[in-house]
Amino acid sequence: MIAIYPGSFDPITFGHLDIIERGVVLFEKVIVAVLYNPNKQPLFSVEKRVEQIIQCTRHLPQVEVDSFVGLTVDYAKLHQAKVLLRGLRVLSDFEKELQMAHTNKTLAEDVETVFLATKKEYSFLSSSTIKEIAQFGGPISHLVPENVVKDLQSYYS
Ligand code: ADP
Repeated sequence: MIAIYPGSFDPITFGHLDIIERGVVLFEKVIVAVLYNPNKQPLFSVEKRVEQIIQCTRHLPQVEVDSFVGLTVDYAKLHQAKVLLRGLRVLSDFEKELQMAHTNKTLAEDVETVFLATKKEYSFLSSSTIKEIAQFGGPISHLVPENVVKDLQSYYS
């Protein structure tokens, strides 16, 4: 079974990577799909985020990295994927994620959303927190892959 792991990944963190690594145990293939969202002002371009994810998932042959515009369920159908993979950190995620899962169900009855609970040590981690720390020169190497550390450091230097 193929799963799509959609998101902004601006940038990818160890929390995302943990979901991907656990996803490949459950699914034959996980397509990490970077959403081009015209309503968000990202730090990194979609192409850069794709490249960052490719670099840090090299050890996982079942992972494909791609980007898309439009509805996630349409993208899933295009790839014959029946599962949308999402990570859950805290209760506030749950509300937003449940609403999204229900909405997607009305758009595509045969596509299921599967949630994986975040590892405890990453439950506080978000891409925006990372960017805030990096902006002020704080340590981030325990929170994001090495290639992302370099990209953030060169962006803020
Ligand atoms: P989006 O804008 O779609 O929420 P994100 O990149 O913020 O994109 O998140 C993509 C997915 O990864 C979401 O399901 C989110 O809950 C999950 N996620 C984000 N941070 C973490 C984390 N630290 N641990 C596990 N899952 C996470």
